[in-house]
Amino acid sequence: MRTLALLGAGGSIGSQCLDVVRRSGGAFCVTAMTMRSRAEELFRLAREFRPRVCGLVEEPEEIPADLREIEWFFGEDVNERVVEAARAQDVLAAVVGAAGLEASLAALRVSERLLLANKEALVTGGELVTGLAKELGKPILPVDSEHSAIFQCLRARDCNEPARLILTASGGPFRTWPKEKMYAAGVGDVLRHPTWNMGRKITVDCATMVNKGLEIIEARHLFDMPEEKIAVLVHPQSVVHSLVEFPDGCLLAQLGAPDMRAPIAYAMSFPGRMPDAGKKLDLAAVGTLTFEAPDPARFPALRLAREALRAGGTAPCIFNAANEIAVASFLREEIPFGEIVNIVEQTMQRVPSGNIRALADVREADGKARREAERVAAARR
Ligand code: NAD
Ligand code: MG
Repeated sequence: MRTLALLGAGGSIGSQCLDVVRRSGGAFCVTAMTMRSRAEELFRLAREFRPRVCGLVEEPEEIPADLREIEWFFGEDVNERVVEAARAQDVLAAVVGAAGLEASLAALRVSERLLLANKEALVTGGELVTGLAKELGKPILPVDSEHSAIFQCLRARDCNEPARLILTASGGPFRTWPKEKMYAAGVGDVLRHPTWNMGRKITVDCATMVNKGLEIIEARHLFDMPEEKIAVLVHPQSVVHSLVEFPDGCLLAQLGAPDMRAPIAYAMSFPGRMPDAGKKLDLAAVGTLTFEAPDPARFPALRLAREALRAGGTAPCIFNAANEIAVASFLREEIPFGEIVNIVEQTMQRVPSGNIRALADVREADGKARREAERVAAARR
């Protein structure tokens, strides 16, 4: 039985991870859980999974009597403290946003393996995370479906260097929408994703394709590939999860149903595979798989992510922070959908990027970018 600390237990990835645990026949023991708020939900999960350590960013009024044996932590740094107290073999970082960076660094220091869903950790502090993993000899197992696919395909590389990584993208709900209609799309339109059921923030990121931009940056760090060798291919059925191209032109792909439980279970069970972790893929029922190039005019987020990656240092962190602010503002219905990427672009122009020597450099850039993005967003309401 492997012990697992689950950070972000109440979210889309968190609940699917718990579903994998339930289906695993006792292969995993969840020894720690965290969430931001919704204490009642965490109490319910704690009664089911009986973790030793729990944490909430927002402290509840009281802990129920039957859960007081658990060691509790509260506050903004709850993930790091829970990881340190739990000392689980594996940590699944499934919190959303830049808070995942400190959590991921703590997981690498304390645990055997980091199972990483939180792409923002690599986007904001990729060098710090991969540097620490290398220094300590700890594996980072990707949970993001595209990166899990590439990770699986790369296991067949033998002595060959890959020529290109090809990330597939569903294209989101606005793949075929004209630009003007997209600009004015409402929160309801955005949250209706055609193939995946995810948290609100990443669902907005899929509609702008910022998500794919974040994933280009994530792939750059996970697989040590230069930006120009990471391509994006729109594939509306979300069946081919990504591909690797080798120098002879041969492509290897990983296919599966669009069900996050599969990459979650793969990371948890690696190097084994868990039977019946997710839905099975019936290719005959799917029938047709289609592919198209992304439209740079309607999805400028891809260009912005590449610019950030080429600029290096804190530029990807600024890209991410501005996006988090813009998405939150859109979800509060303060700005039109079409302004999200404009705010990201303006913030990138206004906040100079610098080198990353330590975590403090990331936090400073993140704070500056958030404050500037708030100002830009306020002017566009
Ligand atoms: P979500 O919003 O559904 O869930 C996030 C969870 O994290 C919630 O339980 C929330 O309470 C908790 N949380 C947020 N901030 C926290 C903090 N500071 N400390 C402790 N807990 C905190 O998000 P999600 O869709 O599950 O996504 C989680 C991460 O996984 C994101 O980085 C996302 O990009 C990535 N991801 C998600 C999917 C997906 O299918 N949902 C796929 C690939 C990657
Ligand atoms: Mg993904």
